[in-house]
Amino acid sequence: PIKFALCDNVSTIYREMTRLLRHEFGAKRMKGTSTRLDLLLGDRNNPPYFRMGMMAATHGGLPPLINFYRGNDRLCQKAKMAQLLQGGTAAARPTWLPETYTVRGQRTEQPDHERDLLLLAHAQRPRVWIAKPTCGCKGENILIDDNLPRLLQAMDHYRFLFVVTEYLLEPLLLTPGGRKFDLRLWVLLDPQYEAFIFEEGVLRTASTPYTADSWDDVTQHLTNHAIQEVHAQDYERYEPGNELFFPDFRLWLQEHRGVDFDEEVMPQMAQIIHQCFDALRPSCQLPPGHAYHSFQLFGFDFMLDAAMKVWLIEVNGAPAAAARLTTPIAHDLCLHVAQYFGFVRHPKTRFKPVLDLM
Ligand code: ADP
Ligand code: MG
Ligand code: MG
Ligand code: MG
Repeated sequence: PIKFALCDNVSTIYREMTRLLRHEFGAKRMKGTSTRLDLLLGDRNNPPYFRMGMMAATHGGLPPLINFYRGNDRLCQKAKMAQLLQGGTAAARPTWLPETYTVRGQRTEQPDHERDLLLLAHAQRPRVWIAKPTCGCKGENILIDDNLPRLLQAMDHYRFLFVVTEYLLEPLLLTPGGRKFDLRLWVLLDPQYEAFIFEEGVLRTASTPYTADSWDDVTQHLTNHAIQEVHAQDYERYEPGNELFFPDFRLWLQEHRGVDFDEEVMPQMAQIIHQCFDALRPSCQLPPGHAYHSFQLFGFDFMLDAAMKVWLIEVNGAPAAAARLTTPIAHDLCLHVAQYFGFVRHPKTRFKPVLDLM
């Protein structure tokens, strides 16, 4: 049997994988400290890559597996993502990435080159900006303003490093209600560094109508579940859990915009994912002598604007799944792991090759 350990007590997906591996795949759960593992579901904050590198080959001489790619932070941390994809200059920016600057919150005596570049960009073309702490999540401590000096002053209260990104002013709005949303895709990067998109994704919707002339109401502008659930007066008025799944969105898009989701939206997302992993690849090289393999589940967040253009918002390296997708995603991850160890040949899973969707 596959011998595995779970060292992350937070992730609902890896807990569910643990249950399925034991009960449906006949795998054996070991202690997290064991050095004779086939599979380690590691702690997101500190995956033990070094220990993995010391482990011996397992089944049929296959290197053991861990559920994180070393170097994934280059994509999953907001400031590093901007650096990786923009190459440090706004000029090299891909067309699907909103313009981004990395700025320290609290000003110090040291020169802050990107703060100057941001001020210059704003002077040339005034815009609305969204400032997010580079290591933040769940929409926490996010600031939006069309007055850049005021925004920078507000950031001064925090010690964080921020990314300051051009705010997308004309998102596609859902009816009824004229509400903003973002799109979440779950993406598997397998041990061969091949990318797969879970075919079922979700829209996280706002339940407050969107207006583009005031910035203080987070429930209009931030579609995070945590924000909507806690702050929105009309939480769940339109969709249970403020979640709209792809089958329903397909129908809405066809009916209200005459747009085919699979022809016009999905290929843009697949293309972006493909380019992200291309850019990340050099950061995922193993140190010499390390023989383990990785796989990883990513949560890609996108926005769709009124012109049907897809934008990349962020990439999460340890995503949670929508409640009703936790078991299906965990089950298919088990199948891909079982395939790696040769227990199944051609698993039928709902992870579709990115290349087929582009
Ligand atoms: P977090 O890690 O806190 O979820 P995100 O980068 O996903 O941070 O931003 C949170 C939310 O803010 C997004 O889900 C989206 O609704 C909104 N948002 C983020 N960036 C932009 C942007 N450039 N333009 C418009 N809205 C944005
Ligand atoms: Mg996030
Ligand atoms: Mg997010
Ligand atoms: Mg996001």
